[in-house]
Amino acid sequence: MEKMVNLSILDVRGTELPPEPEKPFPNDCCGSGCSPCVFDIYERDMELWRKECLLTKHNNNNKSSSESEHNASLSLSKYTSLELQSVTELNTDTSSYRFKLPEGTSLKLEVGQHLLLRSKKEDKIVTRSYTPITCNQGHFDVIIKRYQNGKMSQCISQWSVGDMVEWRGPFGKLKYKPNEYDEVIMLAAGTGIAPMLQLIRAVLGNDNDDTRLTLLYSCKKACDILMKDQLDEFRAFWNFNVTYFLTQASLEDDQSCIRYGDVILNTRIDKDFLLNILPKASDRTKILICGTKSFDKDMINYALNIGYQLDEIFIF
Ligand SMILES: Cc1cc2nc3c(=O)[nH]c(=O)nc-3n(C[C@H](O)[C@H](O)[C@H](O)COP(=O)(O)OP(=O)(O)OC[C@H]3O[C@@H](n4cnc5c(N)ncnc54)[C@H](O)[C@@H]3O)c2cc1C
Repeated sequence: MEKMVNLSILDVRGTELPPEPEKPFPNDCCGSGCSPCVFDIYERDMELWRKECLLTKHNNNNKSSSESEHNASLSLSKYTSLELQSVTELNTDTSSYRFKLPEGTSLKLEVGQHLLLRSKKEDKIVTRSYTPITCNQGHFDVIIKRYQNGKMSQCISQWSVGDMVEWRGPFGKLKYKPNEYDEVIMLAAGTGIAPMLQLIRAVLGNDNDDTRLTLLYSCKKACDILMKDQLDEFRAFWNFNVTYFLTQASLEDDQSCIRYGDVILNTRIDKDFLLNILPKASDRTKILICGTKSFDKDMINYALNIGYQLDEIFIF
């Protein structure tokens, strides 16, 4: 049997990734308890390789958007119709929607910025904010949770691939500068992960940014954790850690999305927990919050109770 050696692989966007380390055969291990064992070395090489892949992808993303001749800048004041290119279901009420941009253009967003979506419902205009999670050349993606009685949710439920949808923006006031803070604590619930992903990518994709990122992410069940694959990739970085809080977990739940090493707590994020893990309030720590209105309100209250000032907290 021949060993497979990957010289280089391409990711889905065609980015050339570094060669994957060669996996030892089971009988390459002598079984005498060497330290490190060939498999320890392989695991360490795989971890380094995952980090290199992630950096290559991020750097390539940044390069492709800065090198693109045209940036598809939406207007702040006027809506632009964009074609819905594809829809990917993430769970029963949340999907990822991809919108097509003019060829050779990409959407330029600052970290944490969102767009405004406009639709018509029974002759009434509805507008709501959504935060792109990826902005690549030729398209961008948003993840949207549909609420049963939500006005915009009902419009979105009627969308079909090929529909034209109106967007304007970008908006958002978070001004992130690399290394401005020692630590950024991100408190997110559900689709509130969207602006956090932008920030995480910006920090981890910048080799010179040493900001430590702590994500506390609340979802109902393990299978509701959005963008889990991406979050798993981020875990390879020394300056990123994530704890998942499941508020409606039960023994019957599908566990297939849980990975070895995931830190999962079957509880809500509460004041005592924050008190234990948050660093002492200082102007070198920033707390970012994005979830439902009640989640945001609870988190602000806990942070204030613990001693943080309002200007150390940002709510998307
Ligand atoms: C800056 C910003 C960025 C946002 N980014 C995203 C995003 O990327 N993805 C995304 O899915 N949403 C995002 N939102 C929320 C989004 O703008 C809408 O509020 C949401 O889609 C509901 O709109 P709706 O018209 O369907 O519901 P509405 O008609 O506004 O509300 C109807 C009912 O739905 C329920 N509901 C509505 N919103 C929430 C909520 N957030 N939590 C719990 N229950 C709710 C409530 O029961 C409410 O009474 C963002 C909001 C802001 C302010």
